[in-house]
Amino acid sequence: MYELIMWLETHVRVNSKTKMFCGCKNAVELEWDPNINTCTFCMGFPGALPVLNEEVVNLATKAGLAMKCTINNVSVFDRKSYFYPDLPTWYQITQLYYPIAEHGTVEAYVNGELKSFKIHRMHIECDAGKLVHAWNKTLCDYNRSGSPLMEIVTEPDFRTKEDVIEYLTELQKIMRFVGASNADMEKWQLRCDVNISLRLKWETTLRNRVEIKNLNSFSAIARAIDTEFKRQVKIYESGWTIDQETRWWDDEKWVSNSLRSKEDAMDYRYFPEPDLKPLVLTDEYIAERVIKELPIDRRKKYLEEYKLLDDDARILSNDRTLWDIFEWIIIRTKDPKKACSFITTVLFAILKESLRDVQWWSVDEMVYTISHIINLLNKDELSSTSWKQVFEEYYKIMEEELEKTRNHNVLNEKDTIDFIEKIIDRLGLRQKNDTEALAKIVDEVLANSSSQIEQYKSWKVNLFGYFVGECMKASKGQGNPKIFSELIKNKIG
Ligand SMILES: [Zn+2]
Repeated sequence: MYELIMWLETHVRVNSKTKMFCGCKNAVELEWDPNINTCTFCMGFPGALPVLNEEVVNLATKAGLAMKCTINNVSVFDRKSYFYPDLPTWYQITQLYYPIAEHGTVEAYVNGELKSFKIHRMHIECDAGKLVHAWNKTLCDYNRSGSPLMEIVTEPDFRTKEDVIEYLTELQKIMRFVGASNADMEKWQLRCDVNISLRLKWETTLRNRVEIKNLNSFSAIARAIDTEFKRQVKIYESGWTIDQETRWWDDEKWVSNSLRSKEDAMDYRYFPEPDLKPLVLTDEYIAERVIKELPIDRRKKYLEEYKLLDDDARILSNDRTLWDIFEWIIIRTKDPKKACSFITTVLFAILKESLRDVQWWSVDEMVYTISHIINLLNKDELSSTSWKQVFEEYYKIMEEELEKTRNHNVLNEKDTIDFIEKIIDRLGLRQKNDTEALAKIVDEVLANSSSQIEQYKSWKVNLFGYFVGECMKASKGQGNPKIFSELIKNKIG
């Protein structure tokens, strides 16, 4: 009877080399030693002035465009003032009134259905430092102070926890794809606060919302949503109302605790940052950063055009190198189904065993090899049972060469094909399609199987597979089973 209405505020750590307004190293992963990436600006010394990092603007623009946002030609930095030991400047530089990007959408598949979630806005801002509570003291580490963040706020478009998780998964892919962030939740490169509000199904206005903070994994998010839904239902059912508040999720105990209510909401005294000019981006600057195709677009194409299975489409669209390999094989074979099947079974099995990633060798050479194997299969020169063997042999030779010489001259397409042909002949895996030669084998097999033929003809015992198997054996596995079947059918009906 109750419906969940949710929206998300997500902070994504920008993958720039230096911090947002100073030359300090932007440690995307936390440093072991405290306070080693700091300077007069990010420590809040009087007189130190900010200089905007262009790389942050570049990456944020790409991320905003990938989320189909409008990038504003003019955005403005504001000061948000508050006092807390993790903030040595006593103010955070953010964008309140004029963000860099707004009005976007992120598409995601939720249980096989394509849904789109609206982005309200995205702005860039500085991170605070980190407080470490040890014994009865609090220690301050300012390595993160002044590091760039993107804050992405959605519209209240989320109805289930699956919506939330699939959206975040897609957001993660987008961030990695454009190189804006690794968006690893465990490393706090992506943090998400979930706003949760309940209403009766027929209601049209929003009731009070509760914001849940401190969610650092997809499973924690799912648990927090379930728990908060139950908590709010219980409160409404007992005739009370929900207070607008912020709650802190404790993932060890699976409960949330009130952090602050609306009454003690702080006055941040926002005002335009006096030390920074408005950020002006020209139409040309924005146009140069448009991303033509996102992982989700590929996934759609693979499902609709190539008719791949859901899981295969998802896997092949996740990784940019895999895309390229897959698409280049299709150009050479015109066979998306077999290309997909080869990559997801044969190639993945080998990579898994060798613990290499997909860029292990030369992508070009891998494409030539796989394409040629598929083409031979489609010409009946190779059987589907031996394509794996051929590739494994190829891989083994390459590994050995790499180990011995630590070097490999990448073969061109023609040489790769010659190389594969030699492997097939050496292993005796070429399928024989010469009907006359195969007919001789059939004759020999049938001549030695008179009792089986009798059984087959009189009692209709299913011995057809037996005859084909015997022929395959006689041909040392090289005969084409399809031709054998036809020949046997012609002889004994
Ligand atoms: Zn600094």
